[in-house]
This record gives sequence, structure tokens and C-alpha cells, in this order.
Amino acid sequence: MLNNITGYMEEYDHENLVVCQHKSTGLKAFIAIHDTTLGPAVGGCRMWPYEKEEEAVEDALRLGRGMTYKYAAAGVNLGGGKAVIMGDPAKDKSEALFRALGRFIDRLGGTYYTGLDAGTVLQDMEYIRQETEYVVTLPVYLGGAGPISPYTARSTILGMKASLQELIGDSSLRGKKIAVQGAGDVGYNVIKYLVEEEASEITVTDIDVQRVRKVADDFGAKTKIKAVEPEKIYDTPCDIFSPCALGAVLNRDTVGRLKCKAVSGSANNQLKEDSDGDLLNERGILYAPDFIVNSGGTIYDTDRIMYGSHNHERAKKNVEAVYDKICRIFEIARQEKVIPHRAAEILARRRIEAYSNIKIL
Ligand code: NAD
Repeated sequence: MLNNITGYMEEYDHENLVVCQHKSTGLKAFIAIHDTTLGPAVGGCRMWPYEKEEEAVEDALRLGRGMTYKYAAAGVNLGGGKAVIMGDPAKDKSEALFRALGRFIDRLGGTYYTGLDAGTVLQDMEYIRQETEYVVTLPVYLGGAGPISPYTARSTILGMKASLQELIGDSSLRGKKIAVQGAGDVGYNVIKYLVEEEASEITVTDIDVQRVRKVADDFGAKTKIKAVEPEKIYDTPCDIFSPCALGAVLNRDTVGRLKCKAVSGSANNQLKEDSDGDLLNERGILYAPDFIVNSGGTIYDTDRIMYGSHNHERAKKNVEAVYDKICRIFEIARQEKVIPHRAAEILARRRIEAYSNIKIL
């Protein structure tokens, strides 16, 4: 791909690829700006020990494009982008390295905003913020929105409700059985909401037994909480399976085992292959596309960028709107006879096309 970068960019209609090199800090990074039709490109900064530059470039371009679709389908007026740093997060980090990246981002003049992704933490964002204002996911004392996981959990719940509405014409979670994979920041809050919504049984698993124990301690008196071994979660009879741990969990080995009617979870890239979405469909399991289901946190977080300053009520209202977006995706899927994952991409593309035709005379 490296000998035909613009050809690759043309294939997916990428706008810009910025190559960043800074010798004394050891920074080698790529910033991909996929599409700014709807607004400035926003997407996290990944730090990863890529073996080849080609892998890093491809990752930046692929992830940046994913962000465009996420925002467009979620109805958020932002574009998609991503930064990737070539390096081992355990060994190669320094304040100077992130500040050097911050200067490169600053030069882009607000066409790209960075944030957290795999391999970066809040402290890294604070270093970048010293050089540029174009950063999301900051602590409150630096003008950020604060913890966003509860809002990601909220949109995950809205994905469940929209799925029930589509399947049985009633969005209530009352009396429903839900299996949650991962009781981390998002999974714990999903369970908290499920208890509030009076789900009748919550099966939970995590490779960290302390996290399962905390769920049982905090909610066991109010709702039936069942703990299972990590591998058993796929075999759990339930109304909805909610993957909130890691990606690629919906694959050839697991889809055939699922005993649920719908899947709605926060984990990124749940489908190992696109064809696993078809497998779910063949089994009659409704799949709420992950990149919309988990958009609540980023919608809450980016309110400040779209409107100039953060407003809690407005940001919350926009998170709640994810319910309608997911209902619309299911509607398109029905009308166009495609799986919901593809329907979400259709919705995103339509929105971008509609805006790209706006001409100011
Ligand atoms: P987290 O690290 O706090 O929680 C993940 C949990 O999954 C941990 O408790 C971990 O022990 C557990 N886990 C890991 N492997 C497991 C396995 N094989 N089986 C069962 N449990 C396992 O992460 P989080 O912030 O809660 O995010 C959860 C998922 O949602 C991730 O995929 C993340 O990329 C995605 N996501 C999170 C947000 C957010 O706002 N935090 C936003 C969008 C997407």
C-alpha cells in the first residue's frame, strides 16, 4: 500500500494523511483525516508497537474512516479522523513525545481533534493539551466533560430498548434476562441501569473476579445476579447478550452458541468478520451495530466541540437521541433487506452526501 497511498486514500475517499516525525523525542506518527463534511475530524490517538509503517498508516486510515461513520450515523456533526503513534506504550512514552504530537495537531488548526484510544491514557492527553486546544476526553479541571463511560452505558441500554421495540413492539427491559460480558467501567454502569429498569435476571462474567463480586455485592439484593465463567457467557439463555469487554467476540465459534434474541453491547468491533453479521442474521438474532450503540460517551464528550462549551443537559439529550437512530437503522435494514450493520453505513453515507450538497451562494 505504501507505494500507492493516494490510490488507497482515493478508494475510501480520505481527505488528508499527515506524517509526523520528531527526532529528539522519537515521535513517529500518522494523522488520518477521513472526512470533514459534517464537522472537524475527531478520533482518538492510538499508540501501538507497529512493526511496519504500512500497518500504522493502514490502521490510521481504517480507524479514521470508522469514526466518520460513527458520527454520521449517530447524527453528530463531526467528521472522522485518527492519530497513531508508532511505539510501545509501556516503554516509549514521554511528556516530550506527546507534546511534540500536540504541536503537529495544533498546526492542523482545528481540522482534527484527538482523544483517548488503545495505548493512551488521560495523562497523555494532558501533555498534548499543553500544546494545543484540539483535544477531547480531558479531565473536568482542563475543561473536559469528565467520565464518559456512564453515557456509553446509557447508549448501550438504548440499543437494547430499540432492539426490543423492533422485535416485540415494547422497549421495556422490565422482566428481561440480560447477559453482560465484562463488568468494567461500561459493563458495571450497564448493569446499574438494568437494575433500575427492573430486568429480572442479569448474568455477568469478567476475567477479573473482583469486578463480578462488586456487581453481586452492589446489586444482588435488588435483582437476580448470576455469575458465570467467561467462556460460558455465550451459552447463557437470555433475551439480550451485551458484549462490554473486547472486540471480535461475535465469530464463527461463538455465534452458533448464542441463546439470545438480540445483541447490544459497548465493545468496539464485535464482529470478527463482516460475514459474522450475516451469521447472526441467519440465526434470527438482531444485532444493534456496535459503533452506534457505544456512541453515547463520545456524543457526551464532544458537545463542547460542536457548541463551543459543554452543556450537560444538551449533551444528555443528544445521547438519548441514539434510541431513534438505532430504530431508524433497523427500519432501513427492513426496507432495504440488509443487515443492520450495513444499514448503519447506508444511513451514515446518506447523511454525509446530503450535507456535501449544501452550497452557500
Ligand atoms: P474496561 O477495561 O473498564 O472493562 C473491560 C472489562 O472486560 C474488564 O473488567 C476486563 O477484565 C473484562 N474482560 C476482558 N476480557 C474479558 C473476557 N474475555 N471475558 C470477560 N471479561 C473480560 O473497559 P470499558 O471502558 O468498560 O470498555 C468496555 C468496552 O467498550 C471496550 O471494548 C471499549 O473499547 C468499549 N468502549 C468503551 C467506551 C467508554 O466510554 N469507556 C466507549 C466506546 C467503546
